[in-house]
Amino acid sequence: MKSICPHNDCTGCALCAFVCPKACIAMRPGALGHLYPHIDASVCIDCGACVRACPSAASAGSAVSSGSAASSGSAVFSPSVQSAVPRTAFAAWANDNAEYLSSASGGAASVLSRLVLSDGGVVYGSTAGSDGTGSFSVRHIRVDSEDDLWRLKGSKYIHSSIAGILFQLRDDVRCGKPVLFTGMPCQAAAVRRIFPDEPENLMIADLVCHGVPSESFFLEYLRKNLKISPSSVSSVTFRDGDEFRMTVKGQDGKVLYTHKPLSGLRTEDLYYNLFMDGFTYRDSCYRCPYAGMRRVSDMTIGDFWGLDKGVAAPGHGVSLILPVTDKGKRMAGRLACMMTLVPRPVGEAEAGNDQLRSPRHRSIRIRLFRSLEKIFGPSVYYPLVFDRMLRRRLKHNKGGHKEGHQ
Ligand SMILES: Cc1cc2nc3c(=O)[nH]c(=O)nc-3n(C[C@H](O)[C@H](O)[C@H](O)COP(=O)(O)OP(=O)(O)OC[C@H]3O[C@@H](n4cnc5c(N)ncnc54)[C@H](O)[C@@H]3O)c2cc1C
Ligand code: SF4
Ligand code: SF4
Ligand code: SF4
Repeated sequence: MKSICPHNDCTGCALCAFVCPKACIAMRPGALGHLYPHIDASVCIDCGACVRACPSAASAGSAVSSGSAASSGSAVFSPSVQSAVPRTAFAAWANDNAEYLSSASGGAASVLSRLVLSDGGVVYGSTAGSDGTGSFSVRHIRVDSEDDLWRLKGSKYIHSSIAGILFQLRDDVRCGKPVLFTGMPCQAAAVRRIFPDEPENLMIADLVCHGVPSESFFLEYLRKNLKISPSSVSSVTFRDGDEFRMTVKGQDGKVLYTHKPLSGLRTEDLYYNLFMDGFTYRDSCYRCPYAGMRRVSDMTIGDFWGLDKGVAAPGHGVSLILPVTDKGKRMAGRLACMMTLVPRPVGEAEAGNDQLRSPRHRSIRIRLFRSLEKIFGPSVYYPLVFDRMLRRRLKHNKGGHKEGHQ
């Protein structure tokens, strides 16, 4: 097998590696450190399982059972990833103040996780921190106790690998446990393909997503720009409610680095500026089929940007909840015991959130950055956006504006 799907469409979900019967697919860094499958041709038997499983392959679709996946039973994939357009939307925030203030926005993902754990279930989500071998990494983990839920809290503006959890997730679902998977829409699509019959005990929640930088780009930024050794880092956070600010903490809990909340000027932090302006995403993010109102999960969660000012919402952040399937709708009903839920028109959510309409445009500046960065490093961003920064400075001096995802 030479390639599994068009390079620009590969989301790095690692589903191909999960199904390969010869375990001959390794995820290796490509442009800007993003991970892509590399096939060991000397071991590959050309069975085609990877292509049939891949959510981004044009010819994906036939059922497949194979591989290391087959060693403890077969993995079967559906012809396509089911999707639907939500008909209801909620603005929501957690009633418990500690829960609310420690979450990325309104705490919808955390409350949902608590509900599934209280049913005796397990939750899969993203964590950023030491991986147990002394290295800092961003990856999905399995949580089976409320005491560990803090590890999933907050938005990590780095690609989170799901490669390490897929086998255990499949086994948990098969043994009938209530299972919640939270992740990016492309990851939700990958999980959806493992379970084409949509088992009742599996709940998939995806985030509204405008793209991700790679873990290795972030680690390089820590080392070279911030002069921080990744092994000395215990945690990284990117949000403080409505404020966009990166804070890096050391093993002793001390703050190793932070910056002023983003004001829109693009001078506060280079990594964050590049992320916000969409310069460092995966190639697939600029062609993302999941950036729209058709959703592949049971429930979509995001920030309720553009919420009508007449809604008396607290200031730290407001979750957007879009229940998609019947299961998602039932779960949204249950959230009401721990969250304030205000029904809103779906159009209001769509209008306020670019990523519910289309993927990020890959502008000429972004294209230039991706070529020049290889020679000059990420700081080449500044000359490329100099005129924009000047305009922002003038606008800011006239009254300024707060940074958002748009
Ligand atoms: C890279 C990125 C881009 C985003 N872009 C948008 C956007 O354009 N518009 C918008 O409305 N919202 C966007 N969000 C979602 C938003 O920032 C919040 O994460 C979301 O509203 C959840 O908030 P919460 O209070 O419910 O989360 P919390 O209760 O704090 O829980 C955080 C949840 O997010 C998951 N998570 C965090 N980081 C990642 C990651 N890197 N990969 C996979 N899962 C992760 C965790 O598993 C956990 O379930 C983005 C999030 C990320 C990580
Ligand atoms: S064709 Fe089969 S053996 Fe080869 S990489 Fe794909 S899944 Fe693995
Ligand atoms: S999209 Fe996922 S399954 Fe397809 S090639 Fe990329 S990593 Fe593999
Ligand atoms: S923008 Fe699309 S392809 Fe990129 S991480 Fe988000 S869901 Fe995946």
